[in-house]
Amino acid sequence: MPDGSQRYPKAESVADFARNLAEVRARIDAAAERAGRSGAEVRLLPVSKTVPEERIRLAVEAGCRTLGENKVQEAKRKWRNLADLDVSWSVIGHLQTNKAKDVAAFAAEFQALDNLRAAEALDRRLQAEGRSLDVFVQVNTSAEESKYGLPPDELSAFLKKLPNYSALNVRGLMTLAVFTADTERVRACFRLLRTLRDQARDLDLVGPGELSMGMSGDYETAIEEGSTVVRVGQAIFGARPVPDGRYWPGAADVQKS
Ligand SMILES: *Cc1c(COP(=O)(O)O)cnc(C)c1O
Repeated sequence: MPDGSQRYPKAESVADFARNLAEVRARIDAAAERAGRSGAEVRLLPVSKTVPEERIRLAVEAGCRTLGENKVQEAKRKWRNLADLDVSWSVIGHLQTNKAKDVAAFAAEFQALDNLRAAEALDRRLQAEGRSLDVFVQVNTSAEESKYGLPPDELSAFLKKLPNYSALNVRGLMTLAVFTADTERVRACFRLLRTLRDQARDLDLVGPGELSMGMSGDYETAIEEGSTVVRVGQAIFGARPVPDGRYWPGAADVQKS
């Protein structure tokens, strides 16, 4: 497979974004159909990290209404500078406790909850703001050295503690698959998340039990395995110039293709 810069489309005009969004949406629908599901069950979350605000404006004009950002500072800056747009923000990356206040101030959703200190800090700030926040619990399904996400065997105990934080609306689980071109190993990560979700849902620990899994390189596989939210950046916004090791410790500069 070609590397990302060749594989991902350009995205420099509203028309480019409209085309990219339509293409991803069509692939989502086709993958869902292959799995005997409806594409309507799958939410597309466009991921705009590293993308400058002028280009984000074009994407919003082409129809993006919620945007995913990995880093709180970057998300906060964009939220401020794009406040004139009708768009909400989903934080999908690791949260340092000292940034909980920011997330509570602007985020509509937080997808990377994996420790109780963050839950506690978020809940406190949300209570102060008089609001609640949709959250996904991140699980490390690849057992890579990537330090984010709960180990699968700690998930159930963690979920049992979350009702203590009443401002957090638990929506489901989130994961990043292993970084490899080996689709079966990628698929195994998604299957594991679904199994964990099924177990947690049987115990009524995970709200509606959504599954946030799948990115530009693997969202079709994720949908075949039950994903209800795909987080797609490069297939919409074009290839990122920044190596992804900046976002995922352990991923280094490995390109998933
Ligand atoms: C960047 C990112 C994505 C999207 O990755 P793409 O390869 O751009 O689709 C998904 N999830 C998380 C947590 C990310 O940081």
